[in-house]
Amino acid sequence: MITLSGIVKRYRMGDEEFNALAGVDLHVERNEYVALTGPSGSGKSSLMNILGCLDTPTEGHYHLNGQDVATLGDDALAGIRNKEIGFVFQSFHLLPRLNVLNNVAQPLVYRGLSPAERERLATDALQRVGLGQKLKHLPNQLSGGQRQRVAVARALVGRPSILLADEPTGNLDSRTSEEIMALFDALHSDGQTVILVTHEADIAAHAARVIRLVDGKIDSDLRQERKACIS
Ligand code: ADP
Ligand code: MG
Repeated sequence: MITLSGIVKRYRMGDEEFNALAGVDLHVERNEYVALTGPSGSGKSSLMNILGCLDTPTEGHYHLNGQDVATLGDDALAGIRNKEIGFVFQSFHLLPRLNVLNNVAQPLVYRGLSPAERERLATDALQRVGLGQKLKHLPNQLSGGQRQRVAVARALVGRPSILLADEPTGNLDSRTSEEIMALFDALHSDGQTVILVTHEADIAAHAARVIRLVDGKIDSDLRQERKACIS
């Protein structure tokens, strides 16, 4: 489903050039559950942004479901992103003036669906994350864990082939983090491909495969027994 080959991401700051990613090769199959770890500055977010079609590599190829997306222009990339990728961020990134239902329905606006159909799909996604009772709430009327559930519902509403999450529990306490991880575990059990960034061992323990980045390169790539799911 995902094949990266020779991915380099180079940033230029004045006269200095810096390789945030220095040659990454990676293959991820459908329904894998991957944790991406590594020290701060090792290139995790740069890699997630490329995987999520938010950014393109300086060098290398990225095949997503058979198509080389590294060479696409912004419009084509936005189209693939809207269809194939669900992205969850550490700081939720909800729109504060839209209620929960409209936040979740928002990515569907670009799909040519009727408002009623968008509402139906958004309601379904919110029920999947256990927030079917909060449709009319505003984000600031929810707890941090609930806001992250809304963000997960928004990521899922378009039925993406990949769910990407960059430090999804980074702003949550440990109990709420476990609730969010139980949700990712359940989505994975339902067939979702999940790739998440974390620097916490407890969070990485949920994944079946742990990839560690150091200095923009894959330092290790290990399969593991997953943490037993208490739910
Ligand atoms: P991580 O998520 O592992 O902390 P990042 O991918 O955010 O790492 O960053 C990797 C390196 O690339 C860091 O040294 C960072 O300073 C640099 N970097 C990231 N984004 C940019 C940018 N837009 N411009 C310049 N340097 C950047
Ligand atoms: Mg980061």
